[in-house]
Amino acid sequence: MASRNTRLQRDRQRKEVPSPDSRMQEKKTETIQNRTWYGMNATVIIGPGFIHRAGWGRLLIPHPPVMNWLLRRGLTENARYALSLTHEFGHLQSVPLSVFYAAVNYAAIIAVGQANLMKIIVVFVSTHAAWEIISELFTITRDARFYRKCYEEVTIIPRTIFWFITAALTLIGWIIVLP
Ligand SMILES: [Zn+2]
Repeated sequence: MASRNTRLQRDRQRKEVPSPDSRMQEKKTETIQNRTWYGMNATVIIGPGFIHRAGWGRLLIPHPPVMNWLLRRGLTENARYALSLTHEFGHLQSVPLSVFYAAVNYAAIIAVGQANLMKIIVVFVSTHAAWEIISELFTITRDARFYRKCYEEVTIIPRTIFWFITAALTLIGWIIVLP
């Protein structure tokens, strides 16, 4: 069933741009629609402008692309769009895993009777950081050769910052959760 598989279906459209200046790339909109492994139709829309939207059916959640902004520094336009779309789709693919992971974390602090507001906030931030790690690992493993090629001759500093921050936040969560 070709329509059921998870191949990327890219649909590119260019918005009208008054002049071919450097802001042209920010006006472009790229959309992917894919079926998730748990059977829901996912949509990711990047652009026009800064905001990304991702969700299922008509439920599209707008959000600022903080991590994609950091991770895609220095990439070509095509690489930036392709990897950002895959990363966002990775978030949707990993929703069940991330919800389960967060539930285990919350359950652990509740079970030992130590759930206070501070710990809940730390677990919230920490489990979101873990979700970022999962999504970027999804992006890398989906096409590792393409990923490597995209980052040839691109500084490793933004990616190092991403992995350091997300790993540190995840670890802090574990320290809080573990008795
Ligand atoms: Zn992300």
